[in-house]
Amino acid sequence: MKIFNTRHGVQQYLQQQQAVGHNIGFVPTMGALHQGHLSLIKQAQQLASVVVCSIFVNPTQFNDPKDLEKYPRPIDADIEKLEHAGCDVLFNPAVNEMYAGNESWHLDIGRLEHLLEGEFRPGHYQGVMQVVNKLFTIVKPDWAFFGQKDYQQVMVINQMISRLNLPVKLVMCPIEREPNGLAMSSRNIHLTPDDRVHALVLSRALTQAKAAFKKGDDLLAIQQQATALISSEPGTLLEYFEIVNGETLLPATPDSRGIVALVAARVGNTRLIDNVIIR
Ligand code: AMP
Repeated sequence: MKIFNTRHGVQQYLQQQQAVGHNIGFVPTMGALHQGHLSLIKQAQQLASVVVCSIFVNPTQFNDPKDLEKYPRPIDADIEKLEHAGCDVLFNPAVNEMYAGNESWHLDIGRLEHLLEGEFRPGHYQGVMQVVNKLFTIVKPDWAFFGQKDYQQVMVINQMISRLNLPVKLVMCPIEREPNGLAMSSRNIHLTPDDRVHALVLSRALTQAKAAFKKGDDLLAIQQQATALISSEPGTLLEYFEIVNGETLLPATPDSRGIVALVAARVGNTRLIDNVIIR
């Protein structure tokens, strides 16, 4: 695997690859890689002849400085995992390689940015768009692979691509879970053994919501049931459980074409998110 720390280095290498006919699949990450990330790499390898992974803990998308500080950064283990997965290129820049001081950025994507995660993490999606747009400019991917785990993020990036007419195709990949249902996340390493047990309530609530929808229960009743289930779990503080239209992320109606249930909760000191597509 080729490893680059500079924009210039990776750009030059990828331009050469494109010039000889390769197409590029791109998997942006913040590292602390797990099976979820590696499933994106695998998906990218199905479509692209050169697969690029970036590892960059992007400061502009953190609204909590403590969260940024304690974000795991096991770079040596990450490199080993990428090598093993057969990734072709790693781009791992330092903060000052990506940002020249206090840059300003704002892209209006309407309400999408302010709903759900946006309400609990103000400014988060502006930071995400800022860094992903920069990374797209550097890597110039044909395809970019994002996880359904961050469902709202996929919708936000989709909006950015469409509003800025970016020449990249977005691929959303399924959520990888532990055998017990817990959605894999870099933040899971902060969970204590007790937290790990309590955290299972999130995937349980989502699975039950999907089953109840199949059975024909109404959306409000499903949401109330899930809320009650999560709220009764010790050590768990529910932030939201919403059943929404899969495109607008506004509350779903029975005739919404796509319907997604999204949840966020604090389990111990760790904030977790998860979701399921229920139609
Ligand atoms: P992160 O490093 O958390 O920014 O995640 C990088 C990418 O991996 C994002 O597109 C995430 O949605 C995706 N991802 C994170 N966790 C999972 C998972 N459990 N399954 C599939 N994709 C995931």
